Order: sequence, then C-alpha cells, then structure tokens
Amino acid sequence: MQPDYLIVGSGLSALVFGALMANAGKTVQILEAHEHPGGFGHTFTLAKQYTFNAQLHYVWDCGEGQTVNRVLKKLGLEQSVTFERYDPKGFDHMRMPGYSLDIPSEPEELIQRLSVLFPNDRDRIRGFVQEVEKTGAGLKKLAPPVKPAELLQSASEVLCAAQHLNSTLQDVFDKFKLPQAAQTLLALQWLDFLLPPDQLSFYAWVALFRGYQAGAFYATNHFEDVVNAFVKVIESQGGKVLLNHEVTNFRVTGKTVTGVEAMDLTTHQTAEFTGNTIICNIDPQKAAKMIGEEKFSKTVRRKLNYEYSASNFMAYCVVKDLDLRDYGFGKWNVSHTGHQSLNEAFAQMYDRHDFSNPSFAITTPTLLTDASRDCPEDCQVVEFLTVANYDYFRQLRDRDRKAYNKKKQEILDSMLDVVEAHYVPNFRKHLVFQITGSPTTNERYCWCPQGNSYGSNLTPRNMGLGRLNHETSLNQFYFCNASSGYPGFAPTIWTGALLYQRLSGDVILGDG
Ligand SMILES: Cc1cc2nc3c(=O)[nH]c(=O)nc-3n(C[C@H](O)[C@H](O)[C@H](O)COP(=O)(O)OP(=O)(O)OC[C@H]3O[C@@H](n4cnc5c(N)ncnc54)[C@H](O)[C@@H]3O)c2cc1C
Repeated sequence: MQPDYLIVGSGLSALVFGALMANAGKTVQILEAHEHPGGFGHTFTLAKQYTFNAQLHYVWDCGEGQTVNRVLKKLGLEQSVTFERYDPKGFDHMRMPGYSLDIPSEPEELIQRLSVLFPNDRDRIRGFVQEVEKTGAGLKKLAPPVKPAELLQSASEVLCAAQHLNSTLQDVFDKFKLPQAAQTLLALQWLDFLLPPDQLSFYAWVALFRGYQAGAFYATNHFEDVVNAFVKVIESQGGKVLLNHEVTNFRVTGKTVTGVEAMDLTTHQTAEFTGNTIICNIDPQKAAKMIGEEKFSKTVRRKLNYEYSASNFMAYCVVKDLDLRDYGFGKWNVSHTGHQSLNEAFAQMYDRHDFSNPSFAITTPTLLTDASRDCPEDCQVVEFLTVANYDYFRQLRDRDRKAYNKKKQEILDSMLDVVEAHYVPNFRKHLVFQITGSPTTNERYCWCPQGNSYGSNLTPRNMGLGRLNHETSLNQFYFCNASSGYPGFAPTIWTGALLYQRLSGDVILGDG
C-alpha cells in the first residue's frame, strides 16, 4: 500500500512534518540520499571516536511555549529532548582589533555596553536598538498565520517593519549613523547568514538577532538526539526512513506528482516509490528542474528564481589536555574579525579568496552540555566556520586536488595563527584531530546545489513578498525546506510544522 506521505529528503523540516503526520496516524515514507538523516543537521563520527554535527551550532525558539517546544510537546518529546541555554549575559562574544563586546539577552543591557564603548553615540545606539525591537515585534505580527486584528493593534510596529521590506542591515546602520566599529560588533554573527551587512536583509538579521536574544540554546544530548527522536516517532508509527536512496526523478501525470524514481546507492538498483501526497524537502529549484520548470505556474516559477546563499568553510577539530574554559571559551560562541568592515572582510574572502586576515566563528560544543558523547574525556571539540566561494573551490578541486587540499589547510592555518596569537597560545600542540570541509564537501554530504548553506540567499529580494512557500501549483506536491520557509533549526522546524498544520488542519503554531 502506498504511504499517505512520500517525503524526499530527511532535513529538519521534513523530519518534523513526517513525525507530526505519523503521530496523527498517517503513513510516512522518507527517501534520503545520505547515509545519515538530518540534512545540514546530520551528525557523523570520524576516527571511530570523534563526533561532530555537520552544521548546527546554536539554535533559538526552544524555550517554553516557543515553536520547537510546541512541536516537541505535540510529539510527547518535551521531557526527553531538552536544551541547554547559552549564557544570557553574553551568548555571542564579538572580538575585533581594539574592541570586544559580549552580546547580552537584554536590549537595554546591550545599549549600556555599546554606550560604554562609544560614549559619543549613545542616542544613535539607542535609536538603532529600538528600531530593531520595533521591527522584530512587527515582523512577528506579519509572520503566517497572520491575524488581522493583531495587525491593527500593533499598527506602529507593523508599519516600522513594513518600511524595511527592502532594507539591508547596512541601510539601517547608515540611517542611525552608527560608528563603524559598533556596526562590526553588532553584525559579527554574520556567518549565521554568510552575507555582509551591505547585502543582508534587515529582516533576516532582526529575526535571528532577537531570536538568540530571547534564548540561544544547544541540545542537551547534542543535535543527533533531536534528529533521532523525530526518526523514532516516524518509525514507531510504522513509517520508514530509507537512507542511501537518491531520488533521481519525479513521476508526473498531467499536473499531478504521483511518485519518484530512486536509486539505492548501496546496490545501485533503481525503484519507483509512490505516495498519496509527495513532500519535497530537497532544494525546490533542483526538484523543479527534475520535474520540468514549464509544468509550474508562472507565479511559482518566478518565486523559484532565487539565487543561492553563499557557501562555507568548516574545520572540525579536537584538542587534548586543554581546557578551553581557561582561555575565554564557554557557553557562548566567539566571533573574530581582523577587519574594521565586514563588507570588506566578505569581499576579501568570498570574492578574492584571500584568507590572510580571516573573519570567523569559533564554537565549542563540548562546553555547552555535560552529556557524554563519542569523544574521549580528556578531549574537547572546537569548530571553526567562515565563508567560502563554491565556484572557486569546485574549479580548484576539479583542476588540482593537491592545490584544493592546500587551500583548505591554508585557511585553517590562518585561523589557527589568529587563535594562537589572540586566544590560546600553543593551540596546535594540543590539536589531535582536524578535518576541513569546503563548499564541495557541503554539496557532497548535504546534497545542496552549489554547496549553498542556507538555501536561497538572505538578501532583501529573497526575503520579501515574492518568497517561495509550500505551494507548488502542482497537485499532491508541496515544498518543505529552508528555501520554501526559512533557514535554521527553529525556522525549519516551524516550516515543517506549518505545512503539517495547513494539510491536517490541526493547529499547533497558532490559529490560521
Ligand atoms: C555552515 C552552516 C551552519 C549552520 N549553523 C546553524 C546554526 O548554528 N543554527 C541553526 O539554527 N541553523 C544553522 N544552519 C542552518 C540549518 O542547518 C539549515 O537551515 C537546516 O538544517 C535546513 O533544513 P532543511 O529542512 O531545509 O533541509 P536540508 O538540511 O537541506 O536537507 C535536505 C535533505 O535532502 C536530501 N537530498 C537532497 N537531494 C536528494 C535526492 N536527490 N534524493 C534524496 N535525498 C536528497 C539531503 O541529503 C538532505 O538530507 C547552518 C547551516 C550551515 C550550512
């Protein structure tokens, strides 16, 4: 018998949609190309002892009554899947030459800290932070499911948000004439977007910045715990998650998608899979190309015409006999830049592939929870993240594998030089494991076109009214992915839950 829902891809939005449907008594089957479930949120173990999450570092919206909590409650998982809060007094530690700022949860405290650093700019700083608060409140009202009565009640906030529809973060910095160093400190979590202030949608920045202010979290039992819990719900209700199954084509009759063709990557056998409804968690553009773009309505084709977000470089490292807590690390991320301007930092690394003065983020997952994991007790995991250009790495890898490996090592070395100069002298002496990932690694293991990190690029154009949603214009076929919702752990959980709510009529996020 064919399942009620055949889901292509096992990213977070797909797992949440599948788990909620399975929990509601529907049959669910997932086809996933990779050997691990979770998409960008998958976890892998190397050298038989070191475990890393591919991409997830810190997440938001996990507090009581917030999106993630609501979904977990619906699935009966809220007691077993729990989260540890980052330090609310400083969840992001921003470091640049001459300045350091720990971002606190409280907006008023943020104003105070910035005012100490920039005493002549107190009013501008206050104005900027208030604009962020107001825009954030307005955006909440404008997010689906929209309640017209609330729009009227919060007219001032909604208007403030609406006026920034096309603003970049830089536009708003300029509006308030913030000093350059204050801009850089505020935007130093730019790797969460892989876009500099002059390209980044103000909406995207506000949503994430305020989301983390309200609570930045790490999964108590690491993120594999969350992914495995969703898989378990699906399987315990008779559903299946078939790994190593690459979908190579969609079956379409007229305007109705009826199934897919998939190859078992372990046997290279191809088989057909059908479902009453097909849910597409893979990149919508990639799926549309497989199906034939001409089959989609004009409106959907226009929405599918997004450019991809930039890609990234990751280094997964393990240090031994070194307690990073003695060197300024803890329940927070550290973001470092050697540049005064992040717009310039981005251009240097992304456009010119020059990493001699890197801007990067450092996360230390083993310091965020006491839960044991596949990592020896005398070791700690530390991960480095920065931006990288897909085309450059792709060409380098295809042309000269040695040069590709050398470039990856050069980037890591450049970051480690900064770490040893500013944070942990002799860091390399303690380094017992390192592996690096480039944009082509993303493409290989997360199956994302052009190694894109966040789906569609988070520019005002892609974050505006023409943004793709779950509607495909084809019958029995829905998108459910970061590019048809929003990227990030909580936003993709929201995306999956919202689609569940729309198809089932079971309201878990709010009326709509
Ligand atoms: C460097 C980096 C850091 C990040 N850090 C954070 C963070 O700290 N906090 C946070 O909240 N978010 C973070 N994110 C974002 C977050 O991880 C993603 O937005 C989210 O996981 C995307 O989920 P998704 O549902 O869109 O599916 P995806 O993760 O895109 O999954 C799609 C799935 O489809 C599968 N697939 C693709 N093609 C096929 C095919 N043909 N057949 C079968 N299966 C296929 C893929 O293998 C994959 O499993 C980060 C992302 C990156 C890249």
